[in-house]
Amino acid sequence: MKKVHNFSAGPCILPREVIEQSADALLDFDNLGLSLIEISHRSKNFEAVMEEARNLVKDILSLPERYDVLFLQGGATLGFYTVALNMLSEKGKAAYVNTGVWASGAIREAQLVGKVEVVGDSSDRNHSYIPSFTVPKDADYLHITSNNTIFGTQFQQFPESPVPMVCDMSSDIFSKKFDATKFSLIYAGAQKNMGPAGTVLYIMDKDQLRNSDRKLPAYMNLKLHAEKASMYNTPPVFAVYASMLTLRWIKNNGGLSGMEDRNRAKKDLFYTELDRNGLFHGHSAVADRSWMNPTFRLNDDTLSAEFDKMWKEAGVSGISGHRSVGGYRASMYNALPIESVAILVDVMKEFERRKG
Ligand SMILES: *Cc1c(COP(=O)(O)O)cnc(C)c1O
Repeated sequence: MKKVHNFSAGPCILPREVIEQSADALLDFDNLGLSLIEISHRSKNFEAVMEEARNLVKDILSLPERYDVLFLQGGATLGFYTVALNMLSEKGKAAYVNTGVWASGAIREAQLVGKVEVVGDSSDRNHSYIPSFTVPKDADYLHITSNNTIFGTQFQQFPESPVPMVCDMSSDIFSKKFDATKFSLIYAGAQKNMGPAGTVLYIMDKDQLRNSDRKLPAYMNLKLHAEKASMYNTPPVFAVYASMLTLRWIKNNGGLSGMEDRNRAKKDLFYTELDRNGLFHGHSAVADRSWMNPTFRLNDDTLSAEFDKMWKEAGVSGISGHRSVGGYRASMYNALPIESVAILVDVMKEFERRKG
């Protein structure tokens, strides 16, 4: 196979061993002579997978007893609505921070459920920074998006919130150390830092879910899923299995602190070059730069065809920017090796040498 440096924003690169073990399990799972995807999800072999996946999340994040972990379907997108259904009371309101496309999606869905107050908004400068905000004490919860995948900004410190805090961590969960107990509810689509598309992780403080005043559809009732140990209905078995393998990989590679070291080295290497190189500039405010999704542009867009040819020839894949920002986005999720970042940095240097 030819060497490709995979900077895809999602679904994204996974550890090679996870892909290989997943491929093996598709052919013959646990020496059963059967594929992972043709056995009962109630078999003890699959129940063990689900339990290990949930326990690995608790272990990696050092979650106390009162937290529960679920692997459901519908992606973070259904999560936008599910979160509001489970946390927003009939008469209450929720505080949201609008830091980009995904945060606005969360706001729109919550508005279908109840009252939403947008307490911070960075749309005035195309979401290139994390706004400051005050949280009303009478809100049912505060909702933030820890990493803005499209715009390349990230909360470097989480706010102190007087009300339960909810976070969409789809694109930076398990990427560095953080205190999960600051949050009442965390949700994250798997396909950026945890596994293939098809499952979404919920981490929740059971004491904080306040759905008592609403009738919920079964699938969106997080308490019900918790009571059933994330097996209320047929789970997305393959996505859960590959996520479990990725979680094992995270644990075996130093857990959150191992991921943080890895990711810090990559973002330092990349941003140092971006700041040094005279042909490029970054999109996001320096203090709010994402470790996961650096966004950047050429100062002179007419040079793009030549730059594109160079990185493609070097085996770099997936750095074209999202249409709402333009330019480039080099997503550097957990499994991306620093060698890939070094290749991209070399291309940027060589490009400057030719053009500068
Ligand atoms: C990708 C992404 C989503 C959407 O996730 P789906 O699983 O595709 O629904 C939501 N929030 C953030 C921060 C994302 O990066």
